[in-house]
Amino acid sequence: MDYRVLLYYNYTTIEDPEAFAKEHLRFCKSLDLKGRILVANEGINGTLSGTIEDTEKYMDAMLNDPRFKDTYFKMDDSEGHAFKKMFVRPRPELVSLKLEDDIDPHELTGKYLEPEAFKEALLADDTVVIDARNDYEFDLGHFRGAIRPDIRSFRELPQWIRDNKEQFMDKKVVTYCTGGIRCEKFSGWLVREGFKDVAQLHGGITAYGKDEAVRGELWDGKMYVFDERISVEINSVDKQIVGRDWFDGTPCERYVNCANPECNRQILCSEENEAIHLGGCSYECSAHPHNRYTEKHGISEEEKALRLEALKVNEAV
Ligand SMILES: [Zn+2]
Repeated sequence: MDYRVLLYYNYTTIEDPEAFAKEHLRFCKSLDLKGRILVANEGINGTLSGTIEDTEKYMDAMLNDPRFKDTYFKMDDSEGHAFKKMFVRPRPELVSLKLEDDIDPHELTGKYLEPEAFKEALLADDTVVIDARNDYEFDLGHFRGAIRPDIRSFRELPQWIRDNKEQFMDKKVVTYCTGGIRCEKFSGWLVREGFKDVAQLHGGITAYGKDEAVRGELWDGKMYVFDERISVEINSVDKQIVGRDWFDGTPCERYVNCANPECNRQILCSEENEAIHLGGCSYECSAHPHNRYTEKHGISEEEKALRLEALKVNEAV
C-alpha cells in the first residue's frame, strides 16, 4: 500500500484550458502520475494515482498555486497504480447538465452538509435524498432510502426533476454524488428552480466513507469509481450488499461491460453467469460476431455455438 489514489475538483477560473492542459500533462508525467484530469474555464477535476511521495509533491504544487490553494484532496490507499495512462483534457465544462444557462457554483449552490449532518438528513422524515449519479452507479451502492432518478446519465437529471417535481417541492432536498463536483452544480440548479431548502453532501460519498464519526454508516453496497478498481468499500459499520446479478438476481458486486463492443452496457454479474452468457447482456449481444468475451478467452466457434444453443434453450423454457 505505498500508492495512493487522489480525487479532487476545484471550481476556479483557468484562463487558457488548452495551454494549461498541455503544461499540466508534462508536470504529471514528470511525477510518474497516472489518471485523468479535465480542465475547463470553470475549473479542474481530476483523479490520479501515484506513489505517496509523488502524490504529496503533486498536492504541494497545486496548493501553492493561487488558483488551486483551497483544493480539497480525497485520498485512498492503493496497491499500485489505478490507471494505465495519464490524460489531461481541455473541455468546455467540467460537468454538464445540458443547461442553456449554466450554473456557476460560486454564485449559486446548495448548503454544504458535513457527514454527520448528512446522516441526520438521511433519517429525517421531512427530507428527500437524491442520488445525483448514473443509474449503474446507484445499482452497485447508494445511501439507504435515497431516491434513484430513472435516468441513464447525469445530463438527464434536470428534466427528470421537472417531471417529478410534486414529490419534492415541499420537502428539504439533499443531494450527493461521488466526490461532490456534480452536486455543486445540481444543487445550485435546484435552488434556481425554486426549491426552498437545498443541501449537498460536502466532499461526496468519498468523504463520508472516510469520516471518523459516521464511518460510512447507512451506505449500502459499494461505491462505483472511474478507475481500474471499479468499486470501493464505504460502509465499515453495517455493510449490506444491494447489487443484484443481471441474470439471476442474486446478490452481486461484480461489474462487467457487455462483451458486445457496440453495446458496452455495464452489468453486475458473477463469473459463472458471464461465462454462460459469453459476456453478453442479451442473446443478441452474446451472439454478436465481435463478441469480446470469446476473443479474450479464446473460445472456439464450436464452443460459442454450443453455449448460444444452451442460451436459446433456456430462454425458451
Ligand atoms: Zn449488451
